[in-house]
Amino acid sequence: MGRYLGPVCRLCRREGIKLMLKGARCETAKCAMERQWRAKPPGMHSWRRRKGTDYGVRLREKQKVKRYYGVYEKQFMLYFRKAERMRGNTGDALLSLLERRLDNVVWKLGFAPSRRAARSAIAHGHLYLNDRRLNRPSYLVRQGDRITIKPAERSQKFIRAALGDGGPPLQAWLKLDSQRLEAEVEALPTREDVQIPVEEQLIIEMCSR
Ligand code: SF4
Repeated sequence: MGRYLGPVCRLCRREGIKLMLKGARCETAKCAMERQWRAKPPGMHSWRRRKGTDYGVRLREKQKVKRYYGVYEKQFMLYFRKAERMRGNTGDALLSLLERRLDNVVWKLGFAPSRRAARSAIAHGHLYLNDRRLNRPSYLVRQGDRITIKPAERSQKFIRAALGDGGPPLQAWLKLDSQRLEAEVEALPTREDVQIPVEEQLIIEMCSR
């Protein structure tokens, strides 16, 4: 799968919101979105751009969610098709599926400074899921899943350092024992647990075409 290797602050500027892609830096005054002269869409003539078309508005909403969770088009559409087959509101189901990704959960637990770092930690085998090594960041956690850290000194040190730096506030659907470095998924996330401001109806309208 391809990986975006370009400047990530540019993505926040394009979407006009903080996507929190750079860990601790996102909380400081160095964040591009905190500086008035930088918090505008990238590009030489961005100030000239006019109001978007209906298509453009829907596209931006989809891109915002894809970039926030770090997924590409093909994978995003797989989540969308899955959400369509689920009971209830498709938009809520889509956001809940994305929120359940293991890399997102690891970041929300504070085990990594950003989603990208969480993906790397999972791929390098620093984390165990239900006492078994799992190196798939896209795994969708289930209720009752236990996330622990590999007993190796290097892994424990890496995770403790990330926890020490703080992170996003712990979600109500997750339980964390920061002393023992253990976490549990107590419930599945709902729409209210998704922190990014998004109008999922616009995404549904775009993807259903
Ligand atoms: Fe986005 Fe973080 Fe860069 Fe700020 S520092 S623009 S939130 S990636």
